[in-house]
Amino acid sequence: MAASASVATARQRVLLLTDPAMEAHAYPGHPERPERLAAAAEGVRSGAAVAGALLTERRPQPIADELLALVHDPAYIEALDRLDMSGGGFLDPDTYVSRGSMAAARLAAGATVEAARAVRAGETEVAFAAARPPGHHAARRRGAGFCLLNNVAVAVTALLADGVERAAIVDWDVHHGDGTQEIFDGDAAVLYASTHQSPLYPGTGHPRERGRGAGEGTMLNLLLAPGSGDAEFEAAWTGELLPAIEAFRPNAVLVSAGYDGHRDDPLANLAITEAGYWSVASELGTVLARLGVRGVALALEGGYDLDALAASVSATVVGLLGGLGSR
Ligand SMILES: [Zn+2]
Repeated sequence: MAASASVATARQRVLLLTDPAMEAHAYPGHPERPERLAAAAEGVRSGAAVAGALLTERRPQPIADELLALVHDPAYIEALDRLDMSGGGFLDPDTYVSRGSMAAARLAAGATVEAARAVRAGETEVAFAAARPPGHHAARRRGAGFCLLNNVAVAVTALLADGVERAAIVDWDVHHGDGTQEIFDGDAAVLYASTHQSPLYPGTGHPRERGRGAGEGTMLNLLLAPGSGDAEFEAAWTGELLPAIEAFRPNAVLVSAGYDGHRDDPLANLAITEAGYWSVASELGTVLARLGVRGVALALEGGYDLDALAASVSATVVGLLGGLGSR
């Protein structure tokens, strides 16, 4: 039949959500800098081109305060807004708020929600929020580790509010997403899986941290020793974490896409290359295809070498599309 033939040969789709307005979040000399935005966006464009996918780009809407309040304490948001309006300051020695940071942070959270909803609506196979500030260290009432609002946590919570039954978060940033873990620690509907370098900031995410109460068993933390490279990274995901995600049978998957595990990254000591990110993304796409999950949403976390960031994002998009198209 012509109709099914056209479906079978339909080009895969990539949605890029980004906005240069997120460059307003800035502090001179800080590694989490405005230029990261364009590098990540360039990676998405390049990945879509390499894979021959159809690319759509659009500027996201800022997150609605009602959605933000599902994750973050409104008093915390008010405090951040006051700091922004008064000219900025530091939440901890690493984490700045500048004039315009909160507009950027609301766009970053909004982009991630929009990415997740676009995938769920069947609008795209890969939706990438090239957005900053990053999010996975932000907890309900506390920003930390360069993060103000927990973009992925807000998006997952929005999906659950939309009626999604189970969601999984893949966090391959080199740091443990302590904020995300705190937010979903007791939640049986959300599986959180992370590889992270140990020892390294923030020092949480030991494998014995497996979730509490109803959420027991839904936090999966694997440590990578300094110097670990593609082989260890791939073994952790392919051998342990992705099979656990498959067994959880999520209806939606979001990626905390950090690339500070790259061998060229100045902030950590893993030796992952683009090939490692490609391989894990490809396997993730294959798992999603087997589960009948139509696509995946990603939000930028870390990654502080601009060339490594762009190349790794590109490899991720290519890998995901390859895996998703594998059946
Ligand atoms: Zn990181």
